[in-house]
Amino acid sequence: MSLIDDVDAMVGPRVRGGLPGPRSAELLTRQELRESNARVYGRHLPIAVEAASGSFVRDLDGNVFIDFLTGAGVLSLGHSHPELVAAAAEQLGRFCHGLDLPSPAKDAFTEAQLSMLPAAMRGRTKVHFCGPTGANAVDAAIKLCKTATGRGDVIAFQGGFHGTTHLAMALTGLVANKAPVPNGVPGVHFFPFSHCADCPLGLSRATCATNCATLLEHALRDPNGGIPRPAAVIVEMVQGEGGVVPADPDFVRRLRRLTRELDVPLIVDEVQTGCGRTGTWFAFEQYDIEPDVVVASKALSGIGQPVAIILYDERLDVWAPGAHTGTFRGNQLAFAAGAEAVRIVRRDDVLGNVRARAAQIAHRLDGLRADPWVRDVRGRGLMWGVELADPFDGRPAGALAGQVQARCLADGLIVELGGRDDCVVRLLPPLNVTAEVVEQACAILIDAVRRCAPADLRAS
Ligand code: PMP
Repeated sequence: MSLIDDVDAMVGPRVRGGLPGPRSAELLTRQELRESNARVYGRHLPIAVEAASGSFVRDLDGNVFIDFLTGAGVLSLGHSHPELVAAAAEQLGRFCHGLDLPSPAKDAFTEAQLSMLPAAMRGRTKVHFCGPTGANAVDAAIKLCKTATGRGDVIAFQGGFHGTTHLAMALTGLVANKAPVPNGVPGVHFFPFSHCADCPLGLSRATCATNCATLLEHALRDPNGGIPRPAAVIVEMVQGEGGVVPADPDFVRRLRRLTRELDVPLIVDEVQTGCGRTGTWFAFEQYDIEPDVVVASKALSGIGQPVAIILYDERLDVWAPGAHTGTFRGNQLAFAAGAEAVRIVRRDDVLGNVRARAAQIAHRLDGLRADPWVRDVRGRGLMWGVELADPFDGRPAGALAGQVQARCLADGLIVELGGRDDCVVRLLPPLNVTAEVVEQACAILIDAVRRCAPADLRAS
């Protein structure tokens, strides 16, 4: 049972009148007056939220939207899952904040997280509780690898996203975010990612021999390659903010082989792909590799209670006490909800639902490929992207993607954008979303692409 009386009855989508409605507009205006110019979501999704439940969000004007953004992939079991709310509420009256002291809630959470790792990794994996954001855990992962190896350079990938703090941003591809911030973190080297729909090396499937992996191999083995042996390689299995780009399996396996041979820790950033998002608990499982460090955050609690961890091989356990502290590393509400989320994922075969709904989305969106403005439709599990590009010159069609996002919202579907120039319309539904809601959402998206992309429309 929901704690808010009328939330259970929330069904949709249902949008009446233009957006934003008058009450949302009032709060958006107040926000604009008082909050930083860096605020982002309300610019493209002009609503103020009154309540949310499961796959739905209701704004202050009574409009109900299907939410396929889910707090940027945080709300894996939907908004305010009643059993997670109950677990967190029970914990709220018991003990809320515990630095890194042990507690039953923390112990159960740790046990649950370790139990979800592949069997071979369980016994040799240690956990560090980081400050409660993905970026903080990325920072921790890099610091740990630098400490363990005594080296300073890091390899990251073009199109990758790891957060917006100084270090995480330095590892992120987004040039626009970095350009205004001089003196970034030194020693970060970017290599091409296996973005096969738009190959950075100009190759096609027919001519490719995973040359992106060859390039990196060559650079790191070449005595004249210019890069000292790095402290770490950090990579996403599916680039999320980069536009839902799943890594090529051969690319990942070669990366693992290379880093093993050179004794370079491989960090897999599963902040977005983790906790079942791609159909396995972690996406790396689908690539048949074992990383040295796994970064996890977003969906760990299932209901948006902040928590972030790194899971790493015990041979990297070199930190002195206090090497990565932070006040907010003991969110007991997140721990209580997170342990409960793992129980529910198992009990309800949520990963089975992810795979079934993934097949449904793949089937439903396949027809979009015929649209001249659609360069690619791709995804893993419940992480999907429709990449739009100008059919005349191949340039990313970010303006069109913005129009599609607005059309979707007007028709009752919240979607996110990502990729180069925000040209990829992204879907991040809750992992327990129903077939019926997926059907409704796909219908809205397909209709929006068709209506917004007339044959003669040019991207700006
Ligand atoms: N890594 C990845 C792969 C992410 O997608 C994100 C957030 N979108 C982050 C790191 C940063 O997480 P946070 O916003 O919690 O700092």
